[in-house]
Amino acid sequence: MKEKIHPVYNEVRVMCACGNNFATRSTHKGDIHLEICSNCHPFFTGKQKLLDTAGRVERFRRKYAKSDAMKTDAAAKATAKEAAGAKK
Ligand SMILES: [Zn+2]
Repeated sequence: MKEKIHPVYNEVRVMCACGNNFATRSTHKGDIHLEICSNCHPFFTGKQKLLDTAGRVERFRRKYAKSDAMKTDAAAKATAKEAAGAKK
């Protein structure tokens, strides 16, 4: 092999949020952290439900609840304005 043109190809540890981990080799520096792997992905497990170990679904729900509240707030304001306009 020609020197100084090849990236380092060391052994790395791959860790999934489901707890599965295995070793492989990669030019990636340091360990690799995954949200999903072949051990927990629905395609491989055959189960529909996704394991939410990293709290991603929870975070999404929180974000959505916030925007939903804003929408209902805006809708309430709009109906209040309409009601006020109808009175005149
Ligand atoms: Zn996994």
